[in-house]
Amino acid sequence: MKISDAKKKEGKYCCAYACRNKPNPRKAGLCHKHYARLRKSKDPVYDRYNKFIYKSKKRGIENSVTLAEFRKFCEKTGYIITKGYRGQSATIDRRCNAHGYHIWNMQILSNRANASKGNKTRDDFVCPF
Ligand SMILES: [Zn+2]
Repeated sequence: MKISDAKKKEGKYCCAYACRNKPNPRKAGLCHKHYARLRKSKDPVYDRYNKFIYKSKKRGIENSVTLAEFRKFCEKTGYIITKGYRGQSATIDRRCNAHGYHIWNMQILSNRANASKGNKTRDDFVCPF
């Protein structure tokens, strides 16, 4: 992302290249969108973690995963690199649907497999609780 010092000094527009949104003084002279992009580029796992927590809250699903656990999970599975919206993209799956997002209950599943799984729990997974 290109940041213009001249635009930053002027303070009229967001200082990202060619952006005409209003800058937020608490966001380093950037608009909401460009500040979010900057944060994402600096720490993609942290950004993804916040969205993960926010989304599970919105869906009313319990989530006990800490940032440290999530970092380890991403490192082990390569989730940040392979995630996305296509059929083969990685998504976080709850192995047992009766339980929320806990580190023992999480695995990577392709978007397609996760969608076709629906509300069922796979036969080969025995829930420990
Ligand atoms: Zn902007």
